[in-house]
Amino acid sequence: MPDPAPPAAAEARAGAERYAEVIVDVAAAGTDRVFHYRIPPSMCLEPGFRVLVPFGPRRIVGFVTGITGTTDVPAQRLRPVIAPLDHEPLLPPDVMDLCRWVAETYACRFVQALRAALPPLVRRAAPAVRPDLAVVPAVDREQLRQARDTLAARAPRQAQALERLLEALESGQAAPWLRDLTRAEGLGSRHYRALAQRGLLRLEERVRPRDPYPEDAFTPEPLHEPTPEQARALDAVRRALDAGRHHTLLIEGVTGSGKTEVYLHAVREALRRGRGAIVMVPEISLTPQVIERFKRALGRPVAVLHSALTDGERLDQWLRIRRGEARVVVGARSAVFAPVADLGLVIMDEEHSASYKQDETPRYHARAVAEARTRAAGGVLVLGSATPSVESVHRARSGRVEHIRMTTRIGGRPLPRVVVVDMREQHRRGHRGLLSPLLVQALGRTLTAGRQALLFLNRRGFSTIVLCRECGAAVRCPHCEVALTYHRAGDRLRCHYCGFSRAPVSRCPGCGGTAVGYFGTGTQRVEQAVRHLFPGARVERMDADTVGGRGSHERIYRAFRSGQVDVLVGTQMIARGWDIPGVTLVGVVAADTSLHLPDFRSAERTFELLVQVAGRAGRGDEPGLVVVQTYNPDHYAVEAAVRFDSEGFYARELAAREALGFPPFGALVRVVLSGADPGAVTAAADTLNAAVRERLEGAAGAEVLGPAPAPIARLRGLVRWHLLLKGPDAAVLRHALREPVAALERAAGRVRVTVDVDPHSML
Ligand code: ADP
Ligand code: ZN
Repeated sequence: MPDPAPPAAAEARAGAERYAEVIVDVAAAGTDRVFHYRIPPSMCLEPGFRVLVPFGPRRIVGFVTGITGTTDVPAQRLRPVIAPLDHEPLLPPDVMDLCRWVAETYACRFVQALRAALPPLVRRAAPAVRPDLAVVPAVDREQLRQARDTLAARAPRQAQALERLLEALESGQAAPWLRDLTRAEGLGSRHYRALAQRGLLRLEERVRPRDPYPEDAFTPEPLHEPTPEQARALDAVRRALDAGRHHTLLIEGVTGSGKTEVYLHAVREALRRGRGAIVMVPEISLTPQVIERFKRALGRPVAVLHSALTDGERLDQWLRIRRGEARVVVGARSAVFAPVADLGLVIMDEEHSASYKQDETPRYHARAVAEARTRAAGGVLVLGSATPSVESVHRARSGRVEHIRMTTRIGGRPLPRVVVVDMREQHRRGHRGLLSPLLVQALGRTLTAGRQALLFLNRRGFSTIVLCRECGAAVRCPHCEVALTYHRAGDRLRCHYCGFSRAPVSRCPGCGGTAVGYFGTGTQRVEQAVRHLFPGARVERMDADTVGGRGSHERIYRAFRSGQVDVLVGTQMIARGWDIPGVTLVGVVAADTSLHLPDFRSAERTFELLVQVAGRAGRGDEPGLVVVQTYNPDHYAVEAAVRFDSEGFYARELAAREALGFPPFGALVRVVLSGADPGAVTAAADTLNAAVRERLEGAAGAEVLGPAPAPIARLRGLVRWHLLLKGPDAAVLRHALREPVAALERAAGRVRVTVDVDPHSML
């Protein structure tokens, strides 16, 4: 027990020193902790503030995570906060907690999670809000007109500037922005400054919202009266909202069953109860049409967050949410971190979409983050999809998630007819083309009828798997059940899970046939084939190559939607969400490429893609036809997809996952090691492997697979190896990795280590 301090000293201590706990915006092993800084007496700080702090010789941005009255840091080493960067806390406490959860769950640094949660501009050492200049008239319009006429001869530019101002005033703007006025040819801010000196106007600093979606551009639209199925789904959401507790619902609704309409109603219900909402859609479906639909239905309180916005726009949208001006956020994956106060509802459309997993650090999955966030907020999470993820179906089946089905399409439109073309058969008959005679015929009929067709190719497939054209079998690993990939270097077939390798085959191990070969086709080749067969048809292509720039996706979509394109060839981009009544034919050129990806999710991806693609046909009055070309017509994923038999598919797939201990029956953590020096990389892989195996000894059910070369064995000049950890408990796996990974990071910068908890890509 220390002696009681004299009263004066105690008072000085209590009144004098307060310390800010600061996370600095530097992602390195040594900085992944809280640093203490002295708060100067006159400075007001709270958790959530951004501050400028000294760090070594530099001044950098930091985030205040807490305020404390005590510190272990010796007084002479304590440095003061230089300045707060904002007038109010930028980061709400619940988002800060969520970031802490992300850092823990996905084994990344806290500041990396913060970076994912915040718009990029927030990391700049500048106030988040910078004012713009507004032009405010100082006299009435009549006087402005007179001034314009008098100035016309002497100062024609100023007269012109007044003319522009008058036009803007006439169009209803009370104080137009200087930047907009000076867009006209030959006008600069100096002309307005001159007018200000004449006392005709004032230039005032005002905060200008950079809203890429001005409110008045959207006329409000009433929602449809819900169908009985929609009403049932909505009732469930309403009940959950009223219970005021965390609850998760999975809405499994066939394409076109009116799920989006349910989301819109649900958001309204949340708003009605005074609570905010986040709606997540895959980046690719966050098109102007979708945003427009939300804006029309919900009006003012909607903010939009996605990567196609400029940094400034993104910041402004984010600030509107932070200030409570927007209570609803529509956005891509990162919207799960939006600073919505009193969050009552999170909706995740197309919850199975691979785009919800971030493929750079922090490698979070937005579904898991949404689950954690709604749990903390006592909110409702709605997962929607026509083809839910195996994870979500499993949770629904085990009763942890309420499962709601919507089985009929709006307007009673039937699901399209699906025809499977067995490409092995085609091969036997001597047809070597990309498009089977049946698909060519169907295309011809569609074009004659003046209808539209989508031809779909899965680009995730890469051309290095070895497939038998007679029986459709891919050459697989005897240990891992994944397709082997061919490596030119060394001329070997390799398993990317366990490292098994063998010499290339000249005969199919399944049927003994000799027609084995590389497999993989490109959208470009399909486009050429269609042009060649139908010279009169208007053909367009949509893939990563053709939709490089901002807006090109939109342009092609609009052209197709308005009927200026007859046949559209594309990748996954055309698979999802599109609702185009003119499409009566969908052709899947090769269902196999995704089936043989070296990934335990390959069957799930194939099933999902086929069902989604098929869902694009026959959304208008004409019934649709889907032609699926495949070398594997009897694979369960293909069989189930063409019959729209989800029950059958999930049963098979869950059984397979359970047998192998793959998610959702076990956790998976992948570690990728990369570096320029192959020797250093393999040595690091061996060291890590040994250390992790030792630590996992005795951990029931835990397994280490590998190390093996990653499927993309070389990337930008770096050699890549990976190691997979599998086990019933992710925390055990993460724990086993912590020290060995930290040791590798400390060792030297020659080998880079990436930890991916719950990996969704094995490439
Ligand atoms: P999903 O998201 O399940 O694919 P949508 O919500 O986009 O389905 O609905 C498909 C189409 O049906 C849309 O054009 C939508 O406007 C329309 N729709 C949805 N609900 C109703 C309803 N209750 N009454 C009439 N039309 C509806
Ligand atoms: Zn293997």
